[in-house]
Amino acid sequence: MFNKILIANRGEIACRIAATCKRLGLQSVAVYSDADAEAKHVGACDEAVHLGAAAATQSYLCGERIIEAALATGAQAVHPGYGFLSENEDFARACAAAGLVFIGPPVAAIAAMGSKAAAKALMGAAAVPLVPGYHGDAQDPARLQREADAMGYPVLLKASAGGGGKGMRVVEDSAGFAQALSSCQREAASSFGNDRVLIEKYLTRPRHVEVQVFADQHGGVVYLFDRDCSVQRRHQKVLEEAPAPGLSSALRRAMGEAAVSAARAVNYVGAGTVEFIMTSDGAFYFMEMNTRLQVEHPVSEMVTGLDLVEWQLRVASGEPLPLTQAQLTLSGHALEARLYAENPARGFLPSTGTLRHLRWPGHVEFTVAASDGTRAPVRVDSGVREGDPITPFYDPMIAKLIVHGATRAEALARMTQALRACEVVGLHTNLAFLQRIVASTAFASADLDTGLIERHQAALFAPAAEPSLAVLALACAALLVRQREAAGALASPWAALTHWRLNGPFTQTLAWRACAADSEHDHGSAHVYEVDLTHDGAVQTLDYAGQTHACAWQRGPQAHQFSVTLGQRRITGRVVDEGEAFHVFYDGNACLLEWQNLLAHASDDEPGEGRLTAPMPGKVVAVLVAAGAVVEKGAPLLVMEAMKMEHTIAAPTAGTVVEVRFAVGDQVSEGAQLLVLEGA
Ligand code: ADP
Repeated sequence: MFNKILIANRGEIACRIAATCKRLGLQSVAVYSDADAEAKHVGACDEAVHLGAAAATQSYLCGERIIEAALATGAQAVHPGYGFLSENEDFARACAAAGLVFIGPPVAAIAAMGSKAAAKALMGAAAVPLVPGYHGDAQDPARLQREADAMGYPVLLKASAGGGGKGMRVVEDSAGFAQALSSCQREAASSFGNDRVLIEKYLTRPRHVEVQVFADQHGGVVYLFDRDCSVQRRHQKVLEEAPAPGLSSALRRAMGEAAVSAARAVNYVGAGTVEFIMTSDGAFYFMEMNTRLQVEHPVSEMVTGLDLVEWQLRVASGEPLPLTQAQLTLSGHALEARLYAENPARGFLPSTGTLRHLRWPGHVEFTVAASDGTRAPVRVDSGVREGDPITPFYDPMIAKLIVHGATRAEALARMTQALRACEVVGLHTNLAFLQRIVASTAFASADLDTGLIERHQAALFAPAAEPSLAVLALACAALLVRQREAAGALASPWAALTHWRLNGPFTQTLAWRACAADSEHDHGSAHVYEVDLTHDGAVQTLDYAGQTHACAWQRGPQAHQFSVTLGQRRITGRVVDEGEAFHVFYDGNACLLEWQNLLAHASDDEPGEGRLTAPMPGKVVAVLVAAGAVVEKGAPLLVMEAMKMEHTIAAPTAGTVVEVRFAVGDQVSEGAQLLVLEGA
């Protein structure tokens, strides 16, 4: 076994790997960019080496710098994590040339699986079933169009070098093919430096079922069972689970063995995932093999009781696989939810900002074991802490919530509770969205397929409910307690707030403007709620919507906790107040209430109707209209790329394009006006 390894990654996966190193008594070396100087992963390792500027191309993708850092610190091996250089054969080769062990498969296996097209050819030869499609070398648009036309629509375009759903485009008919192809090629080129594409028949209502495999350097190959990752948005996984529900043991075994054959066909070593797409009749087809640890590996850890990073380290150091196929068993059920800084209401646009407040359910981190050695019911793997930023430079994942239960129903109940206990203030998240998926009948009954989110759009993207009386009362409690404490803190008797000095009853009106927490800046949808509080000596009453309740409030024993007694009802919740913004967490929901401080007459700058502004910092990659163009509402006008994803800016109304302010290649900052459109 090694005694020191360098972790060529950041965020939660770097922390995850460091945790196993610590448990095994290995030293770990972190690397970091300018943006990550204070990041959690830096502190999680024994030492750290600065790489360069924030952009990944100048830091986490600089193979040479990373190898220098490994050599300088005396590390014997490099763990690439996932993303960045994890599937980069040149980097794996350079590690070997520098005398470092790359903790991953041999270069030839990465190369074989690095191109989806080449991998499909190889798997076809190894008799692993494939989705019908075209994965040939010819790439001219006319030829590709002919192939798609012959296959019949819908078809799916994929970047051959792709991953993470990037570049992928569903094409519904022949007329839409050309535009989808150029968009796919552009995203492929910018994300992967290679614009080769392949075409597959687009299967309807398939499941994504993948098999975790492990191989050692002595010819041993096993499968660590399967995961269902069907719940996806934009072809990216959101919720994963192990084992895949509803597989017969014969099917589980058939998929496991097909995955082992796939691994053997490329002389695989280390951790890998063979992804299959499965139809409702149990037919399964090879999609691709990911030659690294996956984001969702913890669900496999939870059901097998194994530490997959430990297995990676053992195998990379030359040890045989710790267990044989017959010794591997499944226990219970695990679910993982990916909590992202993104805005589901705006097409899952990544959200950046500071995590000003962060609270998790009671949990363990990065391990399957609770402190008493039993399986932990809730695990949170996160690379950020309260106060940390989510920057536009890297993946906007905040955390992975992983739960384990004896049955799927038990795991589901735990996940429901775990999500209800999370609190995030500072940026948009998909938390409420995850809660709705987990609560949906389709997910609860394991009626899984990759179209689940789309099919249940209406329910999953429903506007947030109006704040309840309890939520308003909690906000009032936080505000009044804050005012009372502020008054009490000032020693002078004259400093007390006016209304505390008055004798006799008086009524105070608190006006609140409510925004769903996931549409914090969406001024358009706000409503104002007025609560009247009457103070009459020791008795206080709260009037709301025509009802009067006797009330009292106090701070709870925990930070941010408040209690309100409303008549016979005792309400306890949590409120994070920031000036006039009150983030209320109650009954598993988050609600932002803005106190309309009638004394301060701030006039908000409402965003103008139909302003075409950049939703985030990024680069213009295509301008689809010119000044003078007459466009319909919803017409695509310009395409931006941010965080390696394309975002199409569409016309908010029909009208005439008066001006196009940027050209292809321009960098634009968040909020920059991109075009001027004059309404029809
Ligand atoms: P990536 O490497 O970009 O993640 P994959 O090939 O793994 O791309 O596919 C990602 C997801 O896209 C799958 O999980 C599945 O939901 C969907 N998908 C892929 N191929 C097909 C297909 N032929 N038909 C329908 N859906 C597909």
